[in-house]
Amino acid sequence: MKLNISTFSIFLVAGLTLTMFLLWSLSLLVLVDRQNQQNAVTYRQNLHGQVLQLQQKQRLWLQSQYYLLTTLAESPSERQNFQGFLWDYYQRNPSIWAVNLVEFDERGNPVSRSSKPGCLQPDQMHRDDFDDYLVPGIASCRIDDKALLEIAGPVASEGSTRVLLVSMDYFDFLNEFSALSGRRLQRAADSERGIQYHEFGLNLGSATQVTIPIGETDWVFGELHLSLQPISFWELFERQVAIVLTILVTAAILLLLLLHFNLIKPLLVLADRMRHAANSQQQAGDDDQAEVRPGLQVMQDHFDILQKMAKRDPVTGLNNRVIFEDRLSQAIREGKRSARRYALVIIDVRGLDDFAVQRGQYIVDVLLRQVADGLKESLRESDHVARFERNLFALLLEVQQRDQLNTLVEKIYLSVVRPYQVFGREFELNAYFGVAIYPEHGADADNLYQHASHALVRAEHSEWPIQFFRDADDVTDTSGFTMIQSLRRAIESDELKLVFQPVVDLETYATVYLEALLRWKDPEKHEIPIEHTIRLAEQNHLIKPLTNWIFETACRFVSESEIEDIAVGINLSMIDLHDRHLPERIETYLQRYRVKPAQIVIEITEGQIMQDPGEVIEVLAHLGVMGLSLSIDDFGTGQASLTYLKELPVEKLKIDQSFVRDMATNPDDQLIVRATIELAHTLDLKVVAEGVETLATCDLLAEMGCDHVQGYYLSRPLEAEQVATWFETSVKPDLARKGK
Ligand code: C2E
Ligand code: MG
Ligand code: MG
Repeated sequence: MKLNISTFSIFLVAGLTLTMFLLWSLSLLVLVDRQNQQNAVTYRQNLHGQVLQLQQKQRLWLQSQYYLLTTLAESPSERQNFQGFLWDYYQRNPSIWAVNLVEFDERGNPVSRSSKPGCLQPDQMHRDDFDDYLVPGIASCRIDDKALLEIAGPVASEGSTRVLLVSMDYFDFLNEFSALSGRRLQRAADSERGIQYHEFGLNLGSATQVTIPIGETDWVFGELHLSLQPISFWELFERQVAIVLTILVTAAILLLLLLHFNLIKPLLVLADRMRHAANSQQQAGDDDQAEVRPGLQVMQDHFDILQKMAKRDPVTGLNNRVIFEDRLSQAIREGKRSARRYALVIIDVRGLDDFAVQRGQYIVDVLLRQVADGLKESLRESDHVARFERNLFALLLEVQQRDQLNTLVEKIYLSVVRPYQVFGREFELNAYFGVAIYPEHGADADNLYQHASHALVRAEHSEWPIQFFRDADDVTDTSGFTMIQSLRRAIESDELKLVFQPVVDLETYATVYLEALLRWKDPEKHEIPIEHTIRLAEQNHLIKPLTNWIFETACRFVSESEIEDIAVGINLSMIDLHDRHLPERIETYLQRYRVKPAQIVIEITEGQIMQDPGEVIEVLAHLGVMGLSLSIDDFGTGQASLTYLKELPVEKLKIDQSFVRDMATNPDDQLIVRATIELAHTLDLKVVAEGVETLATCDLLAEMGCDHVQGYYLSRPLEAEQVATWFETSVKPDLARKGK
């Protein structure tokens, strides 16, 4: 039989109620029995006390009668009439059963008597029988169906011995006890058990019988039989059952209601929903569990989703994919209402797997955290960032102005593709960005995500690492050149060029040298961030031809320039510094274009030296010997050891622009710059401040004793053709001070 939960709970409550009722009945039965036993004991003790009291009273009365009679018998005046008095006394005292005054002669035989008929026969008496009575004594005896209480003693007389014997019938006890206890008693004689007093109408079947002995301590002449009506179980049961049943039934109803609202009803609703969900998901089987299993599956699925949603990415602390997708859907809904635009950016960070193999997962986690921090810092409050899986991050950016989006995404790109410091070592990561914009690239989250992924695939296969979705985009679209192919081609064609940014002496405003900075325009005339190009060249063994191209172009520029002793600064890549043949290569170009070594300033970053100091120092020392001037670039961002600085043929320190740019308003930066200048001067080095954008910074640096400055305030990087003009004007300090 199948029980549903409602029927089951009714049976349960009914069972509980019945059990409670039976328990109550049983306890009542035990209680009544124990009470009856206790009552019987108390009752017996009380009655026995009453009987003893009554006997005591009778004894005292009999004694008082005895003394009265002996006093009269001994009085000389009354002695004459004593027999007459006795007779009269009988008449008035029915309680006295007999009074005998017996006289004995010298031989001890009775000579005269006065007694009530039926009394002891004096002729059968002898004086010796009363020896004990010479002192008045009290005794009891039984004659036929009578019980007597007797008192006897000598009465003083001359010449003869007289004994007074007063007897009283215990029959009076019956009346007295009846009056005292309010019970009606009947008397019966029993030859064996003596005189019996029974209660009228005694029902021995149901009553508890109490038997009390009557008589003196040494002679019991009868028994008193009384009944005690016990407490009746049924009577008590009948009296209480209605109340008990009312209480139990009320409690049962309350319990049922409680169960119904707090357990059964919610369970029924849940079961109903589960069944409903299950019906739409799965066909029910015939077995017993078919009803429950699909419901459990639904619950499990919900639980899994909740669990996933509750979790953030444990490594970076960023939101995970589930939450991000939720935000994306929300944003699209919002976009539909308020015509807002959003960009979905999917970022594939490359290079982590290699680090995991070489350095272990911990380093990768630290790097991932740094990537996440960089992303968070470069985002605005309205933007969202999440880590999807291993190397995949996603951004949701609100697009305020479409033309600013490129700049924003590039800025974010540079926050990812930059040098990372982990435990004093520098690491570099690569990244690809795929971007899709709502609503033009997709009307819903799925579509947008699909299109951003397509753009990402294209980014991974094309020359520019940031790609926006195009209508022609397809996952299989691999058209165009790969980055490597493009760069190789660019080196050979005119897509690459050098621009020159002057480094100016703060005292004389003379141009110390021109830093050559690489520029690359892709076939579509997009400018590609140069640091990314360098990094790609490094990763794809293209740095050597690239550096060769830079040296050749720079040397050609110097040789073609009409400015005397013009100097050019060249940035070197880390890979270049590990090439033992670098000095020879440079020598080739110097000779080919007849450039003096002093006209070349080599810029290297701190990190480059620290990566493998031994090898790098050797190459740098060689360059120093050749007569090239060395400058430490981006000083302050890495961890250059002063020992190396002393060992190297370095001439200049370039304070990194991150300290210089805002130093006019940032006291911390000022402190760093001032300390760096002092340090450099202690080491006999010239100081160049890069990133000088304002006159205030320029003045502050002059006041601090900085030697040279470089920055937009003085000049932006110049095209080769503009350099001559620069030299014509820059030599005048007042012009420099006014800004260009
Ligand atoms: P860097 O050597 O520290 O060059 C200075 C960078 O700061 C240049 O960016 C320059 O345009 C920029 N800059 C100069 N003055 C200011 C200013 O006042 N404000 C601001 N905001 N920026 C200023 P660029 O040309 O994008 O170069 C970036 C980095 O790429 C360079 O940093 C250098 O490390 C590397 N690089 C550039 N050209 C070459 C090259 O030919 N070979 C190698 N190996 N690396 C190069
Ligand atoms: Mg530089
Ligand atoms: Mg720099």
